[in-house]
Amino acid sequence: MRYISTRGGAPALDFQAVTLAGLASDGGLYVPEHVPALSAGEFRAMAGLDYVETAVRVMTPFVGDTIPQADLRALLTQAYASFDHPAVAPLKQLDGRTWLLELFHGPTLAFKDFALQVLGLLFERFLANADRPLTVVGATSGDTGSAAIHALAGRDKVRVVMLHPKGRVSEVQRRQMTTVQAANIRNVAVEGTFDDCQALVKAMFNDAPFRAAQNLSAVNSINWARLLVQVVYYVYAAVRLGAPDRAIAFAVPTGNFGDVFAGYVAHKMGLPVQQLIVATNANDILARALNAGDYSVRTVAPTTSPSMDIQVSSNFERLLFDLCGCDAAQLRAMMATFEATRSLQLAADVRDAAARLFQAYRADEPTTAATMLAAWMQLHEVIDPHTATGLAAAWASDLPADVPLIALATAHPAKFPDAVQAAIGVTPKLPDRMGTFMRARSAMTCCRTILPLSRLMLHVPHDH
Ligand SMILES: *Cc1c(COP(=O)(O)O)cnc(C)c1O
Repeated sequence: MRYISTRGGAPALDFQAVTLAGLASDGGLYVPEHVPALSAGEFRAMAGLDYVETAVRVMTPFVGDTIPQADLRALLTQAYASFDHPAVAPLKQLDGRTWLLELFHGPTLAFKDFALQVLGLLFERFLANADRPLTVVGATSGDTGSAAIHALAGRDKVRVVMLHPKGRVSEVQRRQMTTVQAANIRNVAVEGTFDDCQALVKAMFNDAPFRAAQNLSAVNSINWARLLVQVVYYVYAAVRLGAPDRAIAFAVPTGNFGDVFAGYVAHKMGLPVQQLIVATNANDILARALNAGDYSVRTVAPTTSPSMDIQVSSNFERLLFDLCGCDAAQLRAMMATFEATRSLQLAADVRDAAARLFQAYRADEPTTAATMLAAWMQLHEVIDPHTATGLAAAWASDLPADVPLIALATAHPAKFPDAVQAAIGVTPKLPDRMGTFMRARSAMTCCRTILPLSRLMLHVPHDH
């Protein structure tokens, strides 16, 4: 299996190289040259398999010969051993046609653990013979950072520098990041917004000598391996509800378009997906793009679902590439327009192609809170604000009543206790296994956004 860049100007790579590279050298994103299809019989045979075995079957064609299958199975077994539910991704029925897919049973209580627990082990394996360490830099609004730090702490040949906007992540998220005392982890609190953090990271990647000297890599969802790992739970959940013999719809709380793009890949592999319902919060660039063709950047509004407070959805480029018939020249021109003007109007044929599978909804703050309350009052379910945007979208959709609908529960409600308390009057409890990190000492470096990049990398953290 070979991977190519959406912008056509970077070398084709195998799974190992694509995992370590993150972003393509031409500024594009790596996608598989062909998405391998599974037959109806192969999907049917997965209905009785456990999570790890399902993952082995889904991932093997993409991994190719970069990892022997027995090693892949061992790696996945190790990655999911830390999850606190035997099903790893349990389905919970809400009503006659709606299920919640609980993706928050990993070590940091959000779905990002699924991919990052695997990515941590992939890095360790692929770097075993490397002569110098990889430096993972990332900007986070909370969930990616905590998942990455828990996946990479103490691992050989990887160091992590994670930037978060100071005071703009939840206290649970901040502590999950900053109480991990491992020598290879640096937390940097930036006085600014998530976009400021992102801009610093982008600048580091665009500084070619610096990038080479530090051996930079990325773990945000532009990394193909992350998306691949997420394809698994779409398949796992769908075959439990009758796929491939009936089509399933998914409602997906969306920020960077990574999670829902994994659902798109599952569909391209042959999983019968009736619809992918894209939920945004008030930061609605994807809803505008999919509903009206208007992919234009506005300022980010802070919401109670901060992991979706994003204006530029990096992975949308992967969908555009596919909808343009994998025409890299066309995609390059579109992205050049977008990068120059912060705005792109999608052509009618691209919009029509997207509309065959995607529906998009925007859940504003009152709707998100009302959905948390309705889930609690009517279904006795405490859900987090991100999950609530997805459920709001599911309830607003015009999906036929006989199509099973799976709403992705992307975070545990206790990760966002203030928003949940405000909406339903109940403070969700952290699972017992979470231990004492809410009382432990934090360590983070604080900086202003103007700090030179080299100092960011070298700064020694001190306690706060
Ligand atoms: C990251 C995140 C999202 C958005 O996922 P994308 O892959 O960026 O679309 C939604 N919910 C939660 C809880 C998250 O952490």
